[in-house]
Amino acid sequence: MNPPRVRLSVLSSSSAGNSTVLEVSGSSRPGLVLIDAGLSPRATRTHLASLGASDRDLAAVVLTHLDRDHFNAGWLRYLRRGVPIWLHRSHAGRATRDGILYRKSELFEDAFEPVPGLKFSAAVLSHDDLGVAVFRVTLPGSNRSLGYATDVGRPTSALFSHLADVDVLAIESNYCPRLQVASGRPAFLQQRIMGGSGHLSNQQSADAVSRIGVRERAILLHLSRQCNSPEIAATAHQDHGVPLTIARPDEPTPWLDLTLPAPVVARRPPVAAGLFA
Ligand SMILES: [Zn+2]
Repeated sequence: MNPPRVRLSVLSSSSAGNSTVLEVSGSSRPGLVLIDAGLSPRATRTHLASLGASDRDLAAVVLTHLDRDHFNAGWLRYLRRGVPIWLHRSHAGRATRDGILYRKSELFEDAFEPVPGLKFSAAVLSHDDLGVAVFRVTLPGSNRSLGYATDVGRPTSALFSHLADVDVLAIESNYCPRLQVASGRPAFLQQRIMGGSGHLSNQQSADAVSRIGVRERAILLHLSRQCNSPEIAATAHQDHGVPLTIARPDEPTPWLDLTLPAPVVARRPPVAAGLFA
């Protein structure tokens, strides 16, 4: 029997809302796992429908952290219908204060499976006070892997080693430092973003793709709308040679099948010597 197929789409990514869906489909109905739920349930439903998926198949929500752009409060009522929400143990105190912990909440520390066979391994990196969970996801029935790293503050050896050699890496590429400095934003906000516990710049993100040794594709997340653009981010990422998908704030990325290795691009055959002589 073939292992289940796993597809990914970034439904939306920006400081206004982040959410990515993994669809696991085997012999029965597909199961959907959201990594972060920073869009309203209604916007999430709309984006899922545009991909041919339905929130009726939502099996779990996994949170990197609890900031509002990663967990929209509209999900509280929705999730009480019975969808488990997974969050890191270090976020439990804030989750209690925010009313997120309920009978279907699950706390993880390192390894967990939000749906059978989809193996998550978490590491906590610095972001604001409570940190952020970074995931290495191993697909069911194979050793293929996805890395997921957003709001990670600074590139660290812990980040590189946790995600080493993943096949596909979704990673934030938040800002261009030049635009950040020229933005007119208050100094405290610039310090929060660039000071090591906020976000990765384009160059830090590109260096991370190289250091991690991503095999097939990088998906760029959380581009600042004020201090970045897809073109600037793509330019910063051009040297590592890994193909890019750049997530958008307003529409989902096309499904990316994580089960299949990326097709090998045929190199043009060399021109036979003397053909054009
Ligand atoms: Zn964020």
